[in-house]
Amino acid sequence: MSIRVGVFGAGGRMGVTVCQAVAADPNLELVAAVDPSHDGIAARTVIGVPEASFDVSGSPDAMTQAGVEVAIDFTAPSAARNNMRFCAENGIHAVVGTSGFTEAEFDSIDAQFVSSNCLIAPNFAIGAVLMMRFAEMSAPFFETAEIIEFHHNNKLDAPSGTAVNTAERMAAASVEWAADPTETETYPGGRGASGPGGIPIHSVRMVGMVAHQEVVLGTTGQSLVIRHDTTDRSSFMPGVVLAAKRVGDLRGLTIGLETILGI
Ligand code: NAP
Repeated sequence: MSIRVGVFGAGGRMGVTVCQAVAADPNLELVAAVDPSHDGIAARTVIGVPEASFDVSGSPDAMTQAGVEVAIDFTAPSAARNNMRFCAENGIHAVVGTSGFTEAEFDSIDAQFVSSNCLIAPNFAIGAVLMMRFAEMSAPFFETAEIIEFHHNNKLDAPSGTAVNTAERMAAASVEWAADPTETETYPGGRGASGPGGIPIHSVRMVGMVAHQEVVLGTTGQSLVIRHDTTDRSSFMPGVVLAAKRVGDLRGLTIGLETILGI
């Protein structure tokens, strides 16, 4: 039997791709799409799924009316907070990709989910999740490590959240890093930003790129390069689809894909 899925933010950049990925999976059924700015418009014209026979709704009530079992949210933090509360109150499992939550919020979100579960993943690209795990596993075996992240030229923040998260996990896995030998920086920032644990992070902003990261580790006579490349939004879809299928097996709030990937 297929799982009945609804998408919050269905008219957004991620939401449209998520709706298409859900509709294409034989074990999931797309039954509702919520997005206030597309209220009342035929879903097939908004999300490009010809077989979608319902309208996009501006209200989360469309989720309960359609008997949604799993709701996927790619909206904005303030909207996602309300949508998670709605899901918790109505026993709907939530899969959340919206970014911008603080660790301090997680306890209260967890407390809300009593009769259903919630999975929030900062990164749904399975390759990126594995890259971070491999970097964390490798850290204790190397003396030096640097992270180079490459993004499109419209990204406003630096370093990327993924780069910071990678460095945090590597720093937690090892404290035995060699001192930086640099005595003179001809141009300030030449050695990159000093990230968690002092691990340098270099941010490249480049026309023609999407999202890429290299973790370079070195020790005597050898180096290891772990690289992940995202070429478009479809990279997130296997993770989103997997989360929709597995969130019902979890308990309360789960952060990240690691639990369902078993890593
Ligand atoms: P976007 O194009 O702005 O889409 C968000 C959509 O949500 C918009 O159509 C917006 O409508 C709609 N929305 C706002 N309030 C809503 C509500 N209460 N209920 C339902 N829909 C609502 O943004 P995006 O690029 O798709 O990204 C969405 C989020 O996903 C961002 O936080 C982004 O950082 C995150 N993201 C996460 C991952 C990951 O792997 N975890 C990957 C990519 C992106 P309006 O335009 O009218 O406001």
